[in-house]
Amino acid sequence: MHGICGNFLYDPDTGEEVMMNDIRFLRAPTLFGNFYHAGAKVAIVTAKDKLRALLGAGLEFDQDRARCFSAEKSDTSTVETHGQEAASKWLDFPQPDVYSAELSEFVFVAGVKLLREWQPDVMYLTTTDYVQHKYAPDDKQAQDFYEMFDKYLTELDAMGAAIVVTADHGMKPKHLADKSPAVVYVQDLMDEWLGEANARVILPITDPYVVHHGALGGFATCYLPKNTSRSDIIAKLLRIEGITHVYTKEVAIEMFQLPGDRIGDIVIISGENVCVGTSEHRHDLAALNEPLRSHGGLTEQVVPFICNRVIELPSMPELRNFDAFFYATTASAQ
Ligand SMILES: [Zn+2]
Repeated sequence: MHGICGNFLYDPDTGEEVMMNDIRFLRAPTLFGNFYHAGAKVAIVTAKDKLRALLGAGLEFDQDRARCFSAEKSDTSTVETHGQEAASKWLDFPQPDVYSAELSEFVFVAGVKLLREWQPDVMYLTTTDYVQHKYAPDDKQAQDFYEMFDKYLTELDAMGAAIVVTADHGMKPKHLADKSPAVVYVQDLMDEWLGEANARVILPITDPYVVHHGALGGFATCYLPKNTSRSDIIAKLLRIEGITHVYTKEVAIEMFQLPGDRIGDIVIISGENVCVGTSEHRHDLAALNEPLRSHGGLTEQVVPFICNRVIELPSMPELRNFDAFFYATTASAQ
C-alpha cells in the first residue's frame, strides 16, 4: 500500500538501481502526517538519516507541533527543527559514529528530553540494528545495549507514556562453522544458467551501510529475460542447498503484500542460517569483523510486541508491528 518494499529497488524503465529513501517512492500518507493534520504534536527521532525524510513526509516545518531529526550527521532538511550539531548540543550528547551503539542511544536521549520538555502527543523513536547484526543476544555487547535501552524505557515509563516496543525484523546467524558467511550467490547462478547479466538479481537489503551485513540478507528478487521459463528456474533454484522458498511474482505479491511494479519476476528466500547474494565479487565483506548475522527471510519474520499497558487483544490476535500505533494511542486513554 505504501510502496516502500526495501532499501533498494530496480526501475526497469530507466534500467537504474536506486535507493528507496526518497519521498517520491511513498504512495500513501503517513500516520505521522495524519496525526499532525488532526492537530497532534508529533516527534520523530531516527538513528539513520535515510529514514528521516520518509517518516517526516506529511509534517510541516512547525516549531510548535512537529519535530523530526536523525542522530546521524547529515545535511539539513525541511522538517527538522534541530540541525545535527544543534541537536547534539541541545542533548549534551556527543555526535555519535554511524556504526555505534551510541547512535541508538542518541535517539533515546532525545526521546526522553522531548517527552519531558516538549510533551508530544505521539512520539516515534527508531534505532539501528547495528548491534544486533554484530552480536548474538547473549553477547556482552548485546546485553549492554539492552541494558541501555531498558534504562531509557524506564524513564519514559516513569513519565507516564504508553509505550509499545516492537521491531521490523528478527535476526539470525548466517555463517559457516569457520565463521565465513553462508551465502548462495544467485546472480552467479543466473549468469551460469541464462548467460552473463541476462537476469538481474536485486537484494532489497542493499544500503550504503555495508559494515552491518555486506548487503547479504535472506531475500532476493530477480528480473528474468523475456521468454525464460519461470517454472524451470524456480525448480533449479529449489535444488540449491540453502534456498528454501522461491515464488513467482504473483504469489509473492499476494503472500507478502508487495508492490508488483517494484519486484522482479520471482522472489527467492534462503533458510535460517543462509543468506542470498548477487555475485561473489560484488559483495564487500572486508568490513565484516564478526560472523555474519542478518535478516530478510521467513525465519526472521516474528518480532516481539511489548507494551507497558494491559491491552485488550482480539481472541485470535494477529498483531503486526504497525499495530503499535493503535495500541499505544488507545492504551494511553486508560
Ligand atoms: Zn539490518
